Amino acid sequence: MGSGPNGLAAAIVLAQAGREVALFEASDTPGGGMRSAELTLPGFQHDVCSAIQPLGFASPFFRGLDLETHGVRWIQPEAPLAHPLDDGSAVVLERSLTETVSGLGSDAETYQRLLEPLVSGWEDLATDLLAPMRLPRHPVRFSRFGLLGLRSARSLAGSFEGIRARALLAGLAGHSVIPLEMRPSAAIGLVLASLGHVVGWPFPEGGSQRLADGLISVLRSLGGEIVTERPVEALEDLPEGAIKLLSVTPRQLLELAGDELPRRYRRQLSRYRYGPGVFKLDWALSDPIPWTAADCSRAGTVHVGGTFEEIAEAERQAWEGLAPERPFVLLAQQSLFDRTRAPAGRHTGWAYCHVPHGSDRDMTERIESQIERFAPGFRDCILAKSALGPAGLNALNANLIGGDIAGGANTLRQTLARPFPKRDPYATPIPGVYLCSSSTPPGGGVHGMCGYHAARSALGRSR
Ligand SMILES: Cc1cc2nc3c(=O)[nH]c(=O)nc-3n(C[C@H](O)[C@H](O)[C@H](O)COP(=O)(O)OP(=O)(O)OC[C@H]3O[C@@H](n4cnc5c(N)ncnc54)[C@H](O)[C@@H]3O)c2cc1C
Repeated sequence: MGSGPNGLAAAIVLAQAGREVALFEASDTPGGGMRSAELTLPGFQHDVCSAIQPLGFASPFFRGLDLETHGVRWIQPEAPLAHPLDDGSAVVLERSLTETVSGLGSDAETYQRLLEPLVSGWEDLATDLLAPMRLPRHPVRFSRFGLLGLRSARSLAGSFEGIRARALLAGLAGHSVIPLEMRPSAAIGLVLASLGHVVGWPFPEGGSQRLADGLISVLRSLGGEIVTERPVEALEDLPEGAIKLLSVTPRQLLELAGDELPRRYRRQLSRYRYGPGVFKLDWALSDPIPWTAADCSRAGTVHVGGTFEEIAEAERQAWEGLAPERPFVLLAQQSLFDRTRAPAGRHTGWAYCHVPHGSDRDMTERIESQIERFAPGFRDCILAKSALGPAGLNALNANLIGGDIAGGANTLRQTLARPFPKRDPYATPIPGVYLCSSSTPPGGGVHGMCGYHAARSALGRSR
């Protein structure tokens, strides 16, 4: 159940193994975190949840599905990421490591030294990073990554002298949705930077829904069926005797399975920790965003938040229950590179910031002020907007508990082992019932690897 990337991946693995598969989805539209819709005005196509898909593009499982023949066309913006600063310039994460370091001044050598081994060894590293905790297949590369990644972003930023490299790292590590003083906030920053250099930060033409549609097409080609508007309220709602793969978070599993789960497992699940929420805005725009730094218009994603210190402060506040005054804004501007997103000459903008778990504060003004700071005149371009806070997101998708988009907090413990340390994190004590959401390894993001590993575990046990 659940037609996000993990539910779909699990369903495809089962169908590939010759099983008869039905996928039940609560919403009227399949795709989970990969849905797109005209949220503002007719003709403007927005991504409801995920927008930028480096993990989806690089996913070892998705790569083997030949999604291009199922209608997925990837778009590569000229640069993966730009990060504007108050001096009117922007730090740019280019595809090329050499071009990236040329913008980092005295930190060029340090950045090159940190990233080069990760970039050149990415294929090996990905095998171990995108899997449950186990003896690594490539122990040297994995340990080298672990030594850096298990640090906090603040500690790693100590390697840099200048404001530019430190700001770039803060924005990348901010995707971890934990304070930058906390371990392992460096890990996600390093993974995203490496992906930028290895595969770019692409997105599907037409919107994330196209990736969902491609996966659904694969599933159907294997004989699987998908049933929408079918919320599962208890395990008994699912066919008896079937292997049941549930793309839900621990809290929902507790509700679905109730007393069927032994007390010890229930206690462990109930300790699972959720993270901050997000507040999201989508805009229909009359013009491209008028960035002061021209480099920002070459990038699909723009990190809006200024210096390392400012971003660290915003992320700490969200974690500690305070709505940040100057939030760290993660922004995507797909229409600059994908003409199918808006009517001719018009544009779209997608952005969110982290807010306290379950926060009901409207962050529209604060998000737009941050963008206006680096793109004066931005507000004059807005034709219409749509806002979604934690409650709205959770209403759209039951997995977004309190607006947490990562399926649970990325604390050190829950990064190393989620939902909790266990030999097979996917199997539950109920025979035939498995967890396959981003609350299992390797965690959040659109890559389908949680579903892939969960389905393999299920098949292994049901031979
Ligand atoms: C605003 C936002 C921005 C994001 N940006 C990015 C990004 O740019 N790049 C990226 O890689 N990731 C991004 N993510 C994260 C990404 O979307 C998730 O990590 C990913 O979708 C998780 O996949 P999943 O399959 O585990 O769950 P989901 O994609 O959340 O799917 C779960 C599905 O299960 C269904 N479901 C839940 N309960 C039931 C039930 N009881 N019965 C039936 N169906 C049920 C839900 O309706 C949903 O369709 C973002 C998420 C959000 C919300």
